[in-house]
Amino acid sequence: MTVRRYLIAGNWKMHCRQSDGAALAADLAARVGPVADPRFDLLLCPPATIVATISQAVSGSAVSVGGQDCHAQAQGAHTGDIAADMLADVGAGWVIVGHSERRTNHAESNAMVRGKAAAVLRAGLATIVCVGETEAERDAGQAEQVVAAQLKGSIPDGAAATNTVIAYEPVWAIGTGRTPTLADIAAMHAMIRARLSGLVADPDAVRILYGGSVKPSNAAEILGLPDVDGALVGGASLKADDFWAIAQACP
Ligand code: PEP
Repeated sequence: MTVRRYLIAGNWKMHCRQSDGAALAADLAARVGPVADPRFDLLLCPPATIVATISQAVSGSAVSVGGQDCHAQAQGAHTGDIAADMLADVGAGWVIVGHSERRTNHAESNAMVRGKAAAVLRAGLATIVCVGETEAERDAGQAEQVVAAQLKGSIPDGAAATNTVIAYEPVWAIGTGRTPTLADIAAMHAMIRARLSGLVADPDAVRILYGGSVKPSNAAEILGLPDVDGALVGGASLKADDFWAIAQACP
């Protein structure tokens, strides 16, 4: 049986300046210490402007740092954009791609997400590829079909458990306090696991995170489901006690 370590990832979105971000990161780094808990890895994804600061704040601890997005190219005339290699240069080991707020607010297609994920791998970093259906798609009975198409269209060549994590985030559950039923989460994660065959080198070893209103009160039941290998956490990642309680809920 393949053993997958949990990954608890915090997506800070457009929150935190240097001082409050560094204090939050240092608090979590002190709780983790120099050696990761045998159950989970902890990852913080702050805004790009403070990736360097947060990397310094967690140095010497087992906490990792990532970006929230990157450009598909390594350099060039792309005003306002950031290359994966630039995030690596200031301490990031990871980049989230295809978050629903990018797909919706910046009209990112599966092909664009795939290009970004490929750029992350070329830069030698690991990527979290986000997928998830809208409420209308779920109501229309199309959730699995939509997520399957996102997986097929967004996962780059060369993806493997060492460099790629999938985050299933139903769009209607992000930041709303609503979550799917545990049965619906389990069914979607099982479907994703099955669909990874042919898309990644080692489908059984790839971590599949759940994201969407994860909080201390629901973390244990969600993280206890089969094929749920961690959580991508938005709001609750901005409070050290809440984020830590979610990590502690890993079985
Ligand atoms: C997210 O933004 O990835 C997310 C899951 O947010 P929240 O936890 O606030 O729903």
